[in-house]
Amino acid sequence: MARVAIFLFLLFAILLALRLIGFVLRSLSSRAASGRPAVEGEMVRDPVCGTWIDRRLAIAGRRGSEWLPVCSEKCRRELESA
Ligand SMILES: [Zn+2]
Repeated sequence: MARVAIFLFLLFAILLALRLIGFVLRSLSSRAASGRPAVEGEMVRDPVCGTWIDRRLAIAGRRGSEWLPVCSEKCRRELESA
């Protein structure tokens, strides 16, 4: 009987772990959708206005299939309309 309880507990633990993994993967993929994962302390250049910005603070702008970091919503719109 104790075995059944342990089995059920393990099953529950696995389901919980899978949920957690799913949540982590979702948050990672939503991050990837907004741009490349941030690299600590890396400076990137805004191709629109030429400002150097921290990659963590950059906004992901798209030009074709290319991802480019920009400093603001204004620059992002400019980049995407170009
Ligand atoms: Zn800019």
